[in-house]
Amino acid sequence: MRVLILGAGFGGLELASSLGTSLGTDVEVTLVDRAEGFVFGFSKLDVMFGRVGAEHVLHHYAELAPAGVRFVHTTVRAIDPATRRVETDAGPLEADVLVVALGADLHPEDTPGLVEGGHEFYTVGGAFAAREVLEAFDGGHVVVGVTSTPFKCPPAPSETALLTHDLLGARGLLDRSTVSLVMPLGAPIPPSPAASETLLAEFAERGIGWHPGVLVLSLDPAARTCALSDGTELPYDVFLGVPVHRAPRVVLESGLAEDGWIPVDPLTLRTRYDDVYAVGDVTSVGTPKAGVFAEGQAAVVAAQLVARARGESEPATYDGRGTCYLELGGGRVGKVEVTFLSGEMPRGALEGPSLELAADKSAFGADRVARWFGRDWTPLGG
Ligand SMILES: Cc1cc2nc3c(=O)[nH]c(=O)nc-3n(C[C@H](O)[C@H](O)[C@H](O)COP(=O)(O)OP(=O)(O)OC[C@H]3O[C@@H](n4cnc5c(N)ncnc54)[C@H](O)[C@@H]3O)c2cc1C
Repeated sequence: MRVLILGAGFGGLELASSLGTSLGTDVEVTLVDRAEGFVFGFSKLDVMFGRVGAEHVLHHYAELAPAGVRFVHTTVRAIDPATRRVETDAGPLEADVLVVALGADLHPEDTPGLVEGGHEFYTVGGAFAAREVLEAFDGGHVVVGVTSTPFKCPPAPSETALLTHDLLGARGLLDRSTVSLVMPLGAPIPPSPAASETLLAEFAERGIGWHPGVLVLSLDPAARTCALSDGTELPYDVFLGVPVHRAPRVVLESGLAEDGWIPVDPLTLRTRYDDVYAVGDVTSVGTPKAGVFAEGQAAVVAAQLVARARGESEPATYDGRGTCYLELGGGRVGKVEVTFLSGEMPRGALEGPSLELAADKSAFGADRVARWFGRDWTPLGG
């Protein structure tokens, strides 16, 4: 069986690693990505807030662990889901099973003024560059703002506001600074009322301005103001933005997407094309756009392909479960277990926050790097 996986992010890496480990040479796995390596979303914040250097958080695809997985470093230009043929800059690729795990592309240029007068912290380059911006900052108004929905990792803007507040405190700038958070959601983490309450209490205690249910529509770099969707404006000296997300163009042009994202069977992750699956941020499966969910979906596709290769019966289906770690500042981490099942209200319990859970989060990253890249790693080094 030839399996072609497009995208070596959370979903693609988990799938390639599971297939390689379970089936060895019984399966021919090709993994394609245009990047030179993988960076965890949470590592972007670690670099941005000066906790660790950029080189520490890049995991080179050349060091992929699973035996038998062929990595092709190239850009996907066209996908034909009917024939499972893909055009890339390195030539055409064909497969018996195609899995699309291309994530969401980010478009800061879609928000007027953001490129000229603000900073986005969702791309690897943007987050690394924001580190210098924060290091050079001498006090003033910081606005952390979301520009559209859906967006990846809904807790990340709240974490960013808290970590910014920590940084300003450590640099003695709090007496001449403000931090504001602009979010389209009514609560910081709607599926977990307990986590939302904790975050709102942290914002109140630190005086972080909380602007729920609104988006940042544009920035005026000359006036140093950003316009919100409720008609109001906020002044800013540093704007840290979550840019517009869209499925990659190659996906939109393939006929796989509907209403902007790839619809899949929520239990099996199959698309409407035979032997074409999609996992992670590129889908509209109904879970938030986060790595843990992409990984869980990839595990379900892997189980189906392993069963098929071994002639076994259909395995368990996707259960919509995931664990999110939440940085609350001061080194404290919370842990939210959430389950998204179609037709039911999502439920999410909160553990912590505590300093002990920081070790739990570190183990989560270390475990993935061991599995995918076969080496020891801790997110904050040391
Ligand atoms: C600041 C921040 C913090 C986050 N924190 C967390 C967290 O703590 N926990 C969590 O679970 N999630 C977190 N996330 C979200 C998480 O990073 C994503 O949801 C996750 O990576 C999605 O996995 P994926 O496999 O669907 O896509 P991705 O991991 O985005 O992978 C898609 C891959 O496809 C490649 N690609 C795209 N187009 C092409 C093309 N045309 N040709 C070739 N390759 C292409 C890309 O290079 C990329 O490697 C965070 C995100 C951010 C921005």
